[in-house]
Amino acid sequence: MMVQSRYLDINLNDLLITTRTVQEEMYNQYLGGIGFNARWLFDLIPPGIDALGPENVLIISAGSLVGSNFPTASRTEASAKSPLSGRLGTSNSGMFFGYRLKASGYDGIILRGKAPHPVYILVENDRVEIKEASHLWGLDTFQVMDQIEEEYPGAQVALIGTAGENQVRYASLQNGRSDAWGRTGMGAVMGSKLLKAIVVKTTGRRAVIHDGATIKAINREASGAIKSSPFYGPFKKYGTMNASPVYSRFSALAAHNFTRGNLPEWKTEFDKKKVDELLVKHMACQACFIACGHLVEIKDGKYQGLKVKDMEITPIVTFGAQCGLNLEASIKASEICQRLGMDMVSTGSSVAMAIELYTEGLISVNDVGYQLSWGDEDAVFNLMEDIAQQKGFGKVLALGTREAGRIIGHPSYAMQVKGVEIPMIDPRGRWSTWSMGMLTNPRGGDHLRCRSIVENLRYNHHDAALMWEKFGMGEEEFSRLDMPDKLKQQTIDLTSDLVNIPLMSIWAEDLIQAYNSLGICIRPPVMNRVGPNLLTRAFNAMWGLEINESELMEAAERSFTLMKLFNIREGEKEEESRFPERFYQQVVSGQVLDPKQVERVLQAYYHGRGWDMQTGRPSREKLQQLGLECGEYLV
Ligand code: SF4
Repeated sequence: MMVQSRYLDINLNDLLITTRTVQEEMYNQYLGGIGFNARWLFDLIPPGIDALGPENVLIISAGSLVGSNFPTASRTEASAKSPLSGRLGTSNSGMFFGYRLKASGYDGIILRGKAPHPVYILVENDRVEIKEASHLWGLDTFQVMDQIEEEYPGAQVALIGTAGENQVRYASLQNGRSDAWGRTGMGAVMGSKLLKAIVVKTTGRRAVIHDGATIKAINREASGAIKSSPFYGPFKKYGTMNASPVYSRFSALAAHNFTRGNLPEWKTEFDKKKVDELLVKHMACQACFIACGHLVEIKDGKYQGLKVKDMEITPIVTFGAQCGLNLEASIKASEICQRLGMDMVSTGSSVAMAIELYTEGLISVNDVGYQLSWGDEDAVFNLMEDIAQQKGFGKVLALGTREAGRIIGHPSYAMQVKGVEIPMIDPRGRWSTWSMGMLTNPRGGDHLRCRSIVENLRYNHHDAALMWEKFGMGEEEFSRLDMPDKLKQQTIDLTSDLVNIPLMSIWAEDLIQAYNSLGICIRPPVMNRVGPNLLTRAFNAMWGLEINESELMEAAERSFTLMKLFNIREGEKEEESRFPERFYQQVVSGQVLDPKQVERVLQAYYHGRGWDMQTGRPSREKLQQLGLECGEYLV
């Protein structure tokens, strides 16, 4: 018999709290996490609604292995229609929020409507209350955390800052003080509902597990597998900062709004070894022994004493390369984003677009109110505050680069795909499964929904046809990959030592969809070792279910496809799956993308997915195979 699963279903219009029980069939078909969110958003949100209106639905789902102690099973997915892209918005975060929510007896929360006044939700073991939050409204996230921690010591909190209240289109939903459901504006959706925070205070409880002894054995096996990955050692030491010297070497940094590819000072200023100098301690999410997070402290200068958990490659490239700040100022910029509750990538990208427009003379001090230049941290911080307050030129930038570029009259300066700002990696400098995923990702220009399970930072892109990347890991590593044999042989050619990029993209997207359904982290040592075999056994033991590996991967493909259908229903066209013109027209560090080659790779991807190669839409046959009855959106 399956373990019972319950969701809180809260209608903020009339402050009504109910619970819904999730049936076994839903787990078999959609697995949990993003899978549930995609299905319910498709069913609950009427087509064409205003993402910042009361009809939008925000769903927060803990992954279905959270609470099992499977390595890294800590992740929770927050999803709604995105006010930034107008498509399905979704974001993933770890730490302890989902773990505590599950311990309280709820696998997730569905939030509908709009409260009549600012509120917060309190989940305290069995008790769930909607409480007055006028005293918290107008406060930044650190101030809110101070108050909540005093009233509810040890609570886990999902909350918004002033950017969320002011409905900045890329406002984040913060996960405590430092972490976030950052991308696609989930904080703006929460702000539009006048919901300031969700406080989970659970004591002395754990998630229910169907077969604890089996889970324990699988967890041991998974831990051993992850520790044996060649990516484990480097990642444990430097986390995502491993990518910093590599992306500079390939001239693949998004420097100065993707106009430069590299910066002369990068090698010394932003080397991964700077982590050693600034590190206070490594930080880990629930059930994770990798502990890739870095709490750092700035030792001297203007920001002496500043402690921030966020020396990660994404904010470092966003503020260091894209906006030209030095390391200390980049760390300070991360802290400002955490305090205001804004997605770092979209914030940095919006600011970088403004600086480029300013330096080109396309906007002036009359528009902005002050001068802008690369590396001017005071100007950057002022602009960030203006965005959060929707003040002056910040009000335009708060719409995201696509909309801001259109209003200003220079849309080509917006570095986005499907309205979502592209992070850090310039595909002209390094074309790989990772960069390819920015085109096909249903949530838009983002690097976290597609990455090769053998992502090998030793190699630059391989051939002008953009169809292959180097494998470089040998026969033993090949044999250890948790991937069906036939597909593995089609995707990785050992003789030529190459990986087929479109095929790896499809596999990786579906695998990450499974991870985001189960709540597993996509960091390289995990993706390299944990595939459908381990995931399926753990999922069945956790819930008392009996699906097989191909059913698990098909369930992941089903919800991935449903996300695409949601987007099509909201008006997505095939031509949105394109990079900004700059990548095809402007040579950076001697490199430019050939649009015809990119097109060929995209076509191979559509073909591999069983989608129509002209329209880039799932075919009727594919929908039938997946049991999805949404065919009316195909024409
Ligand atoms: S690898 Fe890092 S981000 Fe992933 S679960 Fe562990 S600590 Fe969290």
